[in-house]
Amino acid sequence: MEIDLLIKNVRVHDDKPLVDIAIHDGKIVAIETGINTKTHETIDAQGRAAIPGFVEPHLHIDKAFLHRRLPAVQGTLEEAIRVTGILKGKQQRQDVLGRSRRVLDMAVKNGTIAIRAHPDVDLIQGLIGVETLLELKEEYQNLLDIQIVAFPQEGIIKSAGTLELMEEAMGMGADVVGGCPYNEVSWTDTQRHIDMVFTMAQKHDAHIDMHADFADDTSDHRFAAAAYIAQKTMDTHYEGRVSLGHVTSLGALDPDEAKPVIELLRQAQINIITLPATDLYLGGRKDTKNQRRGLTPVRSLTQAGVNVAYSSNNIRNAFTPFGKADPLVIGNMLAHVIQFGTLDNQAAILRMGTQNAAKAMGIEKAYGLEVGKQADLVILDTFEVADALLDIPPRSWVIKRGKITVVTHYSCEIHHHHQGGKQ
Ligand SMILES: [Zn+2]
Repeated sequence: MEIDLLIKNVRVHDDKPLVDIAIHDGKIVAIETGINTKTHETIDAQGRAAIPGFVEPHLHIDKAFLHRRLPAVQGTLEEAIRVTGILKGKQQRQDVLGRSRRVLDMAVKNGTIAIRAHPDVDLIQGLIGVETLLELKEEYQNLLDIQIVAFPQEGIIKSAGTLELMEEAMGMGADVVGGCPYNEVSWTDTQRHIDMVFTMAQKHDAHIDMHADFADDTSDHRFAAAAYIAQKTMDTHYEGRVSLGHVTSLGALDPDEAKPVIELLRQAQINIITLPATDLYLGGRKDTKNQRRGLTPVRSLTQAGVNVAYSSNNIRNAFTPFGKADPLVIGNMLAHVIQFGTLDNQAAILRMGTQNAAKAMGIEKAYGLEVGKQADLVILDTFEVADALLDIPPRSWVIKRGKITVVTHYSCEIHHHHQGGKQ
């Protein structure tokens, strides 16, 4: 028999010899040395490193690339919501599609094979984010998988009519129920918001993905909802199906206060998505000295056994003026900020942008660089897996469901001009 694709001479484990990867019918069928099967197509990786394709479990596509339209000046969360709210009121379909494609093309080129997108669902922009993403999900289906979250950025109780719009979004084909419980006027409403999200998710048998506890501290209870959400998750038997983005205020607690919350998150099998680009940019704005890093306590969460992933969140808008949808860039930044420098820590960061992120999206069963898994992988222009995070190398080949989707030709010559003793 003839297989579809054979990748020769590829580095999968730094401490083992180079291997060949045989791919057929969109799946990895063998990883061995010296595979000689007849093949339709061959890649000679020449010793380059391969890793599973990247996963972005938290990305806002509908409001990307708005950074020069109404630039933010203060750099606070409140300003970002306000400025973006003004622009959201003017969203035009073709414009949203154009900016969204720009993000998705970047993601594909960077080796991302799955995205969970969080389009705003509210009375300001209506369902345009969901509609455009449903279209793009089809358009990009051979390049990456897209999950759509019905995300109520403006609150649910605070913004009457939003719950109905979210229900409509779920009916249209959104996959995941979103939430933004901090954006309500009281702790009582925050709890009601969370309860409504769970009710809707149960109705549709859908996963839940909320923006939660996005503040510098927990003094305002609306930004200390993690324990409540964890308890609710267990009460509704939703273990493993809930992800929370940001959760930065947890990092401000003393270890003995944080510990019981982290233990609840572990028991409820909640996935925590840290969003360093945004959290670093918007956090700690009132600190006049010793400005905090303001991330969720990744080290404590990881040590406790909580699944932690990271993602880009926003690409060039008032929430995050930078970004190019490159998980290696975000991972490298995260490693610095949380001081994950040992070899084990560096490997852990790479897992947070791949396996852990896949788990957060609920796609881990078919995911990974192993026989029997879906052939979604990226071959990097570097020769050790451990150098991925350090080199941030070009993505030489990206493979989605066994098909080559990206080939990057990169060559650079260094000319040494010896000056022959001249000063
Ligand atoms: Zn977000």
